[in-house]
Parts: sequence; C-alpha cells; structure tokens
Amino acid sequence: MTLAFVAIGANLGDAQATVRQAMADLAGLPHSRVSARSSLYRSAPVDASGPDFINAVVALETDLAPEALLDALQQLELRAGRERPYRNAPRTLDLDLLRHGDTVMHSATLTLPHPRLEERAFVLLPLAEVAPGQVSAAALARVADQAIQRL
Ligand code: AMP
Repeated sequence: MTLAFVAIGANLGDAQATVRQAMADLAGLPHSRVSARSSLYRSAPVDASGPDFINAVVALETDLAPEALLDALQQLELRAGRERPYRNAPRTLDLDLLRHGDTVMHSATLTLPHPRLEERAFVLLPLAEVAPGQVSAAALARVADQAIQRL
C-alpha cells in the first residue's frame, strides 16, 4: 500500500455536502482506504471566480498506481457534475492528487508532487492536519496571509 494525499475543493451549491460526499466516494475506491480526513475549511477563491471554496484533504492508503488514481479522481469529478464552460469557472468538485508516496513524476497528465502544493493555505493547512510531518513551518509561514477559516 502507498500513502497518497488528495485535496478536495468545492464552491458551488451545497459545497460542504459535496466535500463530505467526495470523502465517502474516496473511501469507496477500489484497492484503497481512507486513513485520515482533515476538518473542512472555508477559503476565498484564488485565481477563480464564484463563492468561497470548501476544502479538505484526505490520506488514502492505496494500491492504485498514480495514473490509475488520477483517473479515478477524474471519474469522481465527472460524477459530481463538474462543468468547465471556461477556464477557472466555478466548479462543483475539484480533486487534486497532492502526493503518491515518494513518487516524483512529470507527464502530460500528471505531475507529482502536485506543482502548487506549497502555494495555497487551503491545501497546506488541511494537509498539516492529517500529516504534520509533510508540511514545514516555513511553508505554513509563507501562506499565513491567505484568508482561510477552519470550520
Ligand atoms: P485542474 O483543472 O486544476 O483540476 O487541473 C486538472 C488537470 O491537471 C488535469 O488535466 C490533470 O491531468 C492535470 N494534473 C497534473 N498533475 C495533477 C495532479 N497531481 N493532480 C491532479 N491533476 C493533475
């Protein structure tokens, strides 16, 4: 089993319900189990439009390979009715693969670790909750000016 971390974001409709449903859906993935769930957070949109986002991170123990896990995440996004009428449009559900064990890769479809992992408080704070060793104090300090609220 490999320990992976998945970031969940939603900002349309009942976003809290969408995030909780995504956690349940992740728990139902084949060859995988959710070993930790963060609290839910509320953050203002960055480079995106629409209402505030609800964010969370789950730790997933999985036997799925990185590309297979990304595929599964994209299926869940589709199932949540994601529509992308234009770039950075408000979205029903966004799932990002932050890390997949120690895998470092850069393909046309998948970059690991996630390239923007360290830029956003809405990723770092919930990740620090489920995996304190994965997030440095320096990284947290760099995003300390970003508005985010733990729910
Ligand atoms: P976004 O619209 O920000 O959710 O970006 C989705 C696109 O990013 C998809 O086409 C993925 O193939 C690509 N991508 C690259 N690396 C990752 C990653 N670590 N997690 C999720 N999507 C990724």
